[in-house]
Amino acid sequence: MAKRKYVIGVDLGGTKTEACLMDTSRNVSGRLRFPSKPHLGLDHVIGNIVKLVNRVSDNKPVAAIGIGTAGTYNPAGDILHGAPHTPVYETPGFIRKLREVMKAPLVVENDANCLALAEYFESCEGKYTCVMAVIMGTGFGCGLVLNGKLYRGATGGAGEIGHTTVNYMGRQCECGRSGCAESYLSGPSHSRRYFELTGKQLNIKEIWKLYERGDRYAIRLFDESCLIMGEVFANAVNVLDLEAIILGGGVSNIPIWYEKVPPIMIKSFFGPPRDHIPILKAQLGDSAGVFGAAYLALREIGAMEF
Ligand SMILES: [Zn+2]
Repeated sequence: MAKRKYVIGVDLGGTKTEACLMDTSRNVSGRLRFPSKPHLGLDHVIGNIVKLVNRVSDNKPVAAIGIGTAGTYNPAGDILHGAPHTPVYETPGFIRKLREVMKAPLVVENDANCLALAEYFESCEGKYTCVMAVIMGTGFGCGLVLNGKLYRGATGGAGEIGHTTVNYMGRQCECGRSGCAESYLSGPSHSRRYFELTGKQLNIKEIWKLYERGDRYAIRLFDESCLIMGEVFANAVNVLDLEAIILGGGVSNIPIWYEKVPPIMIKSFFGPPRDHIPILKAQLGDSAGVFGAAYLALREIGAMEF
């Protein structure tokens, strides 16, 4: 029998860094997280990852390490682009330094892609091959699995559905453009809109509670959001010929999306007849990022294909 191999997945976030030890049968045998504290500088961040990897590997030989983080890694410049909340991760040479201290091959991928991979294998493997996993929270991003492969695009920047425009004269988005989907569908954009309507500052969970109690402004707000989300998802289906959509992240816990968005989306489908594209709830919670990162490492050693 072939010797069991182990890999490590690392989810490098702005608040916490988490690592898991996974074998080639995708069993997780160890898991640990530390606060990231990126304000303490790059050496601290690297030291933290090394400590986590050493502790979680428990003296087992590690065949590869996958790291999921914000932004897109550009190997040519050895730099992560698009991690504005953790600028220290954008330091040129960060990944090279990390490679130097790690004793195993290292793969880096965008965290939304890691989440998409993990949720895809959890809910869709064997059923669907073209899936979009959307992460709704402070932002609105997605990862794509197309024909069973992780789709990264030409530069690794695919999946920015949150910055597709729903109204070119619309709200100001944090990216500088107007009317991006994110500026209507993220958690904070619900708070902003509710404030506009009522002068009250509430988070999306609190607004949802008011919706359930029949608050007319909350009802108006969620009705708007469902319409926009339905159109955004229909656009994605029309472009990519998707079979399923997975929703993850804090905002995905609001139940209305699963009930009211599909009929809106279906009305805007174009092309081949599609009677149903399921909107599925993500199953792995905050484990998805670290599992997806470990899957990258498993692919690196030929134990998974995607
Ligand atoms: Zn934007």
